[in-house]
Amino acid sequence: MTILGCIADDFTGATDLAGLLARSGVSVSLRLGLPESAPDGIADVEVVALKSRMSPVDDAVTETRAALDWLQASGARQFYWKYCSTFDSTATGNIGPVAEALLADLGGAQTIYCPAFPENGRRVFMGNLFVGRQPLAESPMKDHPLTPMQDSDLTRLLAPQLGGAPVGLIDWPTVAKGADAVREALADLSAQGVRHVVTDAVSDADLEVIARATSDLPLLTGGSALARPLPAIWREAGLLDGAATGFQPPVLPKGAVVLSGSCSAMTRAQVAHYKPLAPNYRLDPLALAKDGFAAARDWFAAQDPDAAVLIYASAEPDEVRRAQAELGVARAGDIVEEALAQIARDARASGRARFVVAGGETSGAVARALGVTRLMIGKEIAPGVPWTYAEDSQGALALALKSGNFGAESFFADALAALPPLRRCAEPATTPASDPSVAGVCIPPPRAAPNPDRAARP
Ligand code: ADP
Repeated sequence: MTILGCIADDFTGATDLAGLLARSGVSVSLRLGLPESAPDGIADVEVVALKSRMSPVDDAVTETRAALDWLQASGARQFYWKYCSTFDSTATGNIGPVAEALLADLGGAQTIYCPAFPENGRRVFMGNLFVGRQPLAESPMKDHPLTPMQDSDLTRLLAPQLGGAPVGLIDWPTVAKGADAVREALADLSAQGVRHVVTDAVSDADLEVIARATSDLPLLTGGSALARPLPAIWREAGLLDGAATGFQPPVLPKGAVVLSGSCSAMTRAQVAHYKPLAPNYRLDPLALAKDGFAAARDWFAAQDPDAAVLIYASAEPDEVRRAQAELGVARAGDIVEEALAQIARDARASGRARFVVAGGETSGAVARALGVTRLMIGKEIAPGVPWTYAEDSQGALALALKSGNFGAESFFADALAALPPLRRCAEPATTPASDPSVAGVCIPPPRAAPNPDRAARP
């Protein structure tokens, strides 16, 4: 039976949340978009990934309430509204209205807002969100093209979203006193009719205090890090059996491909790191617009499926601007996404089953192209990026879906190395015991060509 039902306002945010929960040893299922099939309750956690961050408020509220209905039918007892740890929501944003609608549907009296993600440098102190050492409104987020964050005070940011309803704060000195103090402060605010409460948190220990203090609230809202302590709390409460249930990854064929459509600084460094390690092909949006995808597809079709080749459109800002000036921003992005989606389809048709993808929008395009609607979450490769597993008519496949700035420079190689290779049947079994799903499984050695020399020997 599902314990926690989560709704994320974007795709890579959903994988980030799902990865952190899976790290704590529970089984996590991720749905891409509002599920069409009925819930099956086989995962401890269900995450529904929406694409509602930039949607008009009414659309975001309607879609999120529909996701809540589905999650309630899955048996979940607590719900989580996941948004970005840099908040990414201005006075007209939809974090507050969605939280209020969910709270109302659940008949709850109060919820918390906890975007802190200390491991990634996002901390909240006295209601102000910091990115590293900078207040949010002095960080690069102040110039974000869609959601310029020009106030760091979350209580002030939320008030207009909630039509001026009071927004409370559980400050850090209260959090430092422990879960009972936080529970008391929440009750005091509730008695004053305060339904929306920002919580300070500067460390993982603070997040654990907050998670314990709010274990009876029907709705939690925040970044992903607040969810990490939850499985341990469920275990203590007897909601999970003592052993980690986790998810056993399926056995996969060897073939892999790396597809990169992100142009972030980190992804460009990752592409540069991986290029000397494998054959690679650069997609140029201007050439794609002029000549189509045939050259890229032909190149790909000629590659060894075991080589984990890299196809990338990732480019320096000047080059991106040139393509955008000629094609328009949307068309330049779409054409690259379509090309990478087509290569993903070709890769699957050729039997490849391991996909490493860089870029949030790119990941969505590749997952759609592969017809994937449900992912089970496996091991984390880097904070916020797990291997995920899906099933199609050909069998199991694995996807590492990375938003632009995540992962170390060696991410592509790290991701491929994190999946157990299938050994040849003649090789000794070296699979570590921690990967029982592949122990004892092997693929046949390539058929040996008849060797005339050997035949001639006595
Ligand atoms: P990130 O997670 O870094 O934001 P996304 O995949 O979400 O990455 O967004 C990158 C966008 O840039 C995609 O729409 C992609 O198609 C587009 N893109 C990739 N390469 C280029 C390029 N060379 N020129 C123009 N747009 C590009």
